[in-house]
Amino acid sequence: MTETDITALAEMPGDWQRALAVVAHPDDLEYGCAAAVAAWTDAGKEVVYVLATRGEAGIDTLAPDVCGPLREREQRDSAAVVGVDTVEFLDHRDGVIEYGLGLRRDIAAAIRRHRPELVVTLNHRDTWGGGPGAPWNTPDHLAVGRATLDAAADAGNRWIFPELTDQGLEPWSGVRWVAVAASSTPTHAIDAAPGLDRAIRSLLCHRAYIEALTDEDPETYVRDFLAMTTGGAAARFGGRPAVTFELFGR
Ligand SMILES: [Zn+2]
Repeated sequence: MTETDITALAEMPGDWQRALAVVAHPDDLEYGCAAAVAAWTDAGKEVVYVLATRGEAGIDTLAPDVCGPLREREQRDSAAVVGVDTVEFLDHRDGVIEYGLGLRRDIAAAIRRHRPELVVTLNHRDTWGGGPGAPWNTPDHLAVGRATLDAAADAGNRWIFPELTDQGLEPWSGVRWVAVAASSTPTHAIDAAPGLDRAIRSLLCHRAYIEALTDEDPETYVRDFLAMTTGGAAARFGGRPAVTFELFGR
């Protein structure tokens, strides 16, 4: 273990009121972030979810036109469990999201609409966990994570996407941090314990997806997965199970 591996994770900032979470697919936020979201909404903060796709290419046995609406419903249900009522879809195509100006513009527009202080996204780096043999990440996560980091700045510049101003979306320079969940190089964390039961229920809302993914009992699968990911951070967070983030300031 290197010295950086054992460095304590700092507590996530709490002096903010509005967060916007931007990810590629239904379930991206439930595989880890939802416990943090539950803690935030408990504290009276507002959290909005924006998804680039409806996850319509996510289940081998379901055609996209059937799968998309099903996964959208599952996503809305799972968001509600952790106190999130607003879930928006940008309608990029699942599996082939392209990093580029279109994606940056759509995310910048969402940031201007919701005016968050904290923006949350999912691991934009090449692998999960880092190190030799780490699983390769997917192009959709790379594209959306990178575009979200970029769009946090784009949203504040009147001249980058002037068409947004024409649509009545005034620049928003109030993003103070972008927090990347499931990063292989986390810097911050939040106690997962208070929101963990709701995080489990939230991930279980993606039942069709999970049943297609594993032969295990869905409840056992979800409990074990979230116990493993939140427990893995405890050694760097005073022994507490935690949701970790790589935090970028602005
Ligand atoms: Zn995903």
